[in-house]
Amino acid sequence: MSETFTALMLEDVDGKPRAGFREITKADLPDHDVLVEVAYSSLNYKDGLAVSGKGRIARRLPMVAGIDIAGTVVESRSPAWKAGDRVVANGWGMSETEWGGYTRFQRLKPEWLIRLPEAFSMEQAMAIGTAGYTAALCVDALENWGTIEPGKGEVLVTGAAGGVGSTAVSLLSSKGYTVVASTGRAETHDYLRSLGATSFLDRAELSAEVKPLQKERWSGAVDSVGSTTLANVLAQTVYGGAVAACGLAGGHNLPGTVMPHILRSVALIGVDSVFAPLPKRQKAWQTLADHLDRTKLSAMTETHKMSELPELANRILAGAVRGRVVIEIA
Ligand code: NDP
Repeated sequence: MSETFTALMLEDVDGKPRAGFREITKADLPDHDVLVEVAYSSLNYKDGLAVSGKGRIARRLPMVAGIDIAGTVVESRSPAWKAGDRVVANGWGMSETEWGGYTRFQRLKPEWLIRLPEAFSMEQAMAIGTAGYTAALCVDALENWGTIEPGKGEVLVTGAAGGVGSTAVSLLSSKGYTVVASTGRAETHDYLRSLGATSFLDRAELSAEVKPLQKERWSGAVDSVGSTTLANVLAQTVYGGAVAACGLAGGHNLPGTVMPHILRSVALIGVDSVFAPLPKRQKAWQTLADHLDRTKLSAMTETHKMSELPELANRILAGAVRGRVVIEIA
């Protein structure tokens, strides 16, 4: 008899996706070329939406949830990979159109995999996960834009105590930037200071009415919140500065004006992690390998079992998760 293992599946119940644990076999997996034994996955905001059923993430059902995978190649029909290779996969439609990481085994396309940098264990790779790798994409994007410089000006991180935010604070601080953390949770200030934030901004100050041009303050910003927060951040960015926007934890609208862009040459850089091309991914993982402080990474991470996912999904949507959540795949 084939070996069974547990997967967190989203299934159609009365027309709605509902998450439940199912026993499946390798024969149930998609017919992609690389079989990976998953060691760890992680919990991101998007996973919270998918697992709780509060967001329509899966576009076909049944679907194995989980947008991140760290594991070992078991067999490969592609010459690019061989048994024993340590790999990471983030995004690529996992949990949307492709089966994802909340399962002991998964079959993946060879081009979705990147080699896990030697610098990280699999657990550390998932402590980073999509949220952390997106933070690195944002930092790389700001640096490529060329207007932030260590030691010059302040860089703002919104949603700072969340997964993207915590990694962005840590990474920017390790690179020598002066980091201001915007959070709605004053109780996280000590934690954020330990990651390298030098001062704080109450997130309520960024959700006030948006005046088109405000006092110039940020040489750059990483925004995971969107909505009025992003519009206010743009209006407070210095002449020629840039904001890397990746999230919508506060809403998907953008109630601002063109004034910061046309009068101050402020750039709004959109950052997507799901279909980011390979060179950008490799660069982001290299940035993390070179600059992410491992002690800080450990301080921002908690590890949980797969069985706890339904409860954790509700916690992340309630804004009650601090930093990153690693999921150990049993
Ligand atoms: P988390 O839940 O870990 O962090 C989100 C943070 O946003 C919270 O911790 C909180 O920070 C803040 N926040 C939550 N609700 C609100 C609100 N109503 N108003 C203002 N701030 C709020 O999520 P992740 O870090 O995993 O993801 C953050 C965002 O980035 C999500 O929207 C996610 O979908 C998006 N994302 C996008 C990616 C892409 O490819 N573009 C990839 C990864 C994530 P605090 O408590 O400090 O105030």
